Amino acid sequence: MEFTDKIRQLAQQKQDCIWTLAQQVWKYAECNWKETKSAAATAAALRAEGFSVTEGVASLPTALVAHYGDHGPIIGFLGEYDALPGMSQEAGVAEHRPLAADAAGHGCGHNMLGAGAFGAAVLLKELIAQGLVDAQVEFFGCPAEEDGAGKAHMGRAGVFSQLDALFTWHPDSANHVVGTGTLAVMGVEYRFKGITAHAAASPYSGRSALDAAELMNVGCNYLREHMIPEARLHYAYRDTGGTAPNVVPDRAALHYFIRAPKVHQMLELFERVNKVAQGAAMMTETQVEWTVIDACSDFVPNRTLGQLLAKCMTELGAPAFDQQDEQLAEQFRNTIPPRQRQDNLANSLQCSGMQWADYQDVLLDRHTPAYLHQPKLFEMGSTDVGDASYCAPCAQFHLACAAVGTGAHTWQLTAQGNSSIGKKGTIQAAMILALAGATAAVNSTLLAQAKQDFEADVPQGYICPLPKNE
Ligand SMILES: [Zn+2]
Repeated sequence: MEFTDKIRQLAQQKQDCIWTLAQQVWKYAECNWKETKSAAATAAALRAEGFSVTEGVASLPTALVAHYGDHGPIIGFLGEYDALPGMSQEAGVAEHRPLAADAAGHGCGHNMLGAGAFGAAVLLKELIAQGLVDAQVEFFGCPAEEDGAGKAHMGRAGVFSQLDALFTWHPDSANHVVGTGTLAVMGVEYRFKGITAHAAASPYSGRSALDAAELMNVGCNYLREHMIPEARLHYAYRDTGGTAPNVVPDRAALHYFIRAPKVHQMLELFERVNKVAQGAAMMTETQVEWTVIDACSDFVPNRTLGQLLAKCMTELGAPAFDQQDEQLAEQFRNTIPPRQRQDNLANSLQCSGMQWADYQDVLLDRHTPAYLHQPKLFEMGSTDVGDASYCAPCAQFHLACAAVGTGAHTWQLTAQGNSSIGKKGTIQAAMILALAGATAAVNSTLLAQAKQDFEADVPQGYICPLPKNE
């Protein structure tokens, strides 16, 4: 492909600045909406590379958009930088050793995700600056992927709508381009209000909010039989109304996650869950109100851009892990039971069409699987990349930044996210993204095809699942 050698050469020059950002963000380990230092470091790195940066976009203090170039198609890269609570871990050490008790850490590898996407933007900018590509490049610093759906807020504010192509990636333990969907999800808090009373002397005067919450859960557990099998409901008690059995609780609250393959199916299920909540309130003569805490759409994989990413991955290859990386990977592999490694790989195998047998004895992934377009299959998880994929033609891949079978949201991924393995994966991801961006930018037929796919897949455009007052 046309830009491969140039991108390899540029990546050599830029790898330190890319990896420095990944390590900085790894150390800050800031959770959803609190990514102040991580966003500031990303903005500073972008400005140093000549981007104009707008911070606080979509009224989100830790969201940013960086822009370079003034004509040609607009190529976007999505970055993230939020950490996870309780995921603190010493860098590169294959033994559970938190840096501080209960501290946050990058257990989903978003330090690498953000830096890799930043690297892609920088590499493409260099191609533009050297007059090799006529395009504009945009980098999006997206907060709160883990809990908060930053991209849904950004999508609603229209920040993705002008893009001709949008790319991102995710650190993983195996390589694949994502040709499947993800589940749309919404988090809703249901609050019941009753009347307190002495539970022995005058229980008939009381109206138990806790009873209402329990009945809502019973109702939803009956509802399960009559919803589509791919949908998911889970709940947690947020407030049980107190700890005294001899007091009728006058308040109780539940936090529900409602998931379905398509956003409209999720919204339909939400209406049915609301009816169950109202029924529970009616039965117990209590009152109920609810608040949507966050919501994100399902992912719509763009076939044309997905095929392009797979081509670029094959062209540039998997990360070039060496003997030392293999040794480190072996140490991490030994901390994860085989059955769990297999389970952790399930989503990747579904996307790539590969088998567990292909990976069983592999320490670090070197496959570059072909693209499989399977939009009717769904990963049993959710991401707000879905919202971006409703706003512009979008494709993403996963790349090995950890030993095969390392799970997301684990201390093992935190540890490898600041190691030589994570570094090689991140730099390679930046190159693959940049090659896809450059190749798309100079091929108007391809961009037109991607747009045509997008319009066919998302005929209604973006309907943001967040409530209007959010
Ligand atoms: Zn993640």
